[in-house]
Amino acid sequence: MTKSDVSQLKFRPFQSRSDRAESPTGCDEKVRFLRRYDAAVREYSRAVSDLVTTVGSADFGSAIHCANLARAIAQEAHEGLDRHLTEHGC
Ligand SMILES: [Zn+2]
Repeated sequence: MTKSDVSQLKFRPFQSRSDRAESPTGCDEKVRFLRRYDAAVREYSRAVSDLVTTVGSADFGSAIHCANLARAIAQEAHEGLDRHLTEHGC
């Protein structure tokens, strides 16, 4: 298993036994938003790491595109969480 395979395994936020446990906060929706945000930020971090490894190569262009996309997704996930917290007051 490569290092990349290992990092992929961490990006499955809904599959472990503990993920199915009832939310200690009482709001399952908040937990879902948090997990989505967590996964998106991890993906963004991985994409930024790819910038370092591809700088100076022909792959840098697509790596920067992926990083920008991942940043937008992480931003969107954060906004979704914020919206829920405000609307639900949880
Ligand atoms: Zn809530």
